[in-house]
Amino acid sequence: MPLLPTELPALNERFEGAQPAEIVAWALDVAERPAVASSFQVESTVVIHLASRILPDVPVLFLETGFHFRETLELKERLTRRLGLHVVDLRGAMSPEEQAAVHGPRLYERDPGRCCQLNKVLPLDRALADHDLWMTGLRRGSASTRARVPVVERHLTADGHDLLKVNPVAGWTHERARAYLEEHGLPHHPLYDLGYASIGCAPCTRGLFPGEDERAGRWAGVDKVECGIHLPAAEATPSPSSPRPPA
Ligand code: SF4
Repeated sequence: MPLLPTELPALNERFEGAQPAEIVAWALDVAERPAVASSFQVESTVVIHLASRILPDVPVLFLETGFHFRETLELKERLTRRLGLHVVDLRGAMSPEEQAAVHGPRLYERDPGRCCQLNKVLPLDRALADHDLWMTGLRRGSASTRARVPVVERHLTADGHDLLKVNPVAGWTHERARAYLEEHGLPHHPLYDLGYASIGCAPCTRGLFPGEDERAGRWAGVDKVECGIHLPAAEATPSPSSPRPPA
C-alpha cells in the first residue's frame, strides 16, 4: 500500500495537530500488513496501546539486541501480559557471543555504528519487508535530528520495498505521552524516574546531567545520536569520531 509522493503533503496537512488516535486509526484502516516498532519507551507505548485497541494482534517489533536493561525487558513482559500484545523479537544474524567472536568483545565501544547496523538496522530492515505500514514513537522534540519528522512518510528498505511510515506522536511532548500512560493506567519505564530521558541499549545509555539535551545520554562521548533505523541507508552506519569510555 505505498503512497504516491504527491499524496504525502495533503496527508501531513490533514494530520498536523490531529490526535494520535485519529492517525493510528487511519493508518490501520489503509494498511494490510501493519506493524508497530517499539523499544517500550513512553512514546511507542502510547502507539502500541492505541494500535492494539483497534487491532489486538498487531505485530509489535522489538529489536532484541541482547544488550537491553533488565528493566526494559521486565517492562516489555509486563505490557505484553497486560495488553495481550503480539511482540515479535528481531535479532541480528549473530548472537552477542558470536559477534564478539567475529568482531571482538564490546563492539559497541569500538564501533557503535557497526554494532547498531548488525543488531538494529539490518534486523528491522529485513522485518519491514513483510509489512506495508511501520508505526513508530518518533517525537520531534526528542532530538534535533527528529525536529522535522512528518506524521506520514514513505520508507524504502535496502532492497527497495516501499512502505508507509507513520509517526502518530510526532507532535507530542514527552509530558503529554507520560500523561497518556497515566490516564490509561499504563506503566512507564522505571529508568525515567532515575534521570534517564531516552533509553536504549544499556552499554550506550546513561542518565542525564542537569541541563543536558534529552538524547545526550545516548552514545555519550561518541559522535552518534541515532542508531540508524530512522536514517537514510547511506547515513545509517556512522563511524565513531572519538573513542568511548569503558561501559
Ligand atoms: S545501541 Fe549500543 S549496544 Fe545497542 S546495538 Fe547500538 S551500539 Fe550496539
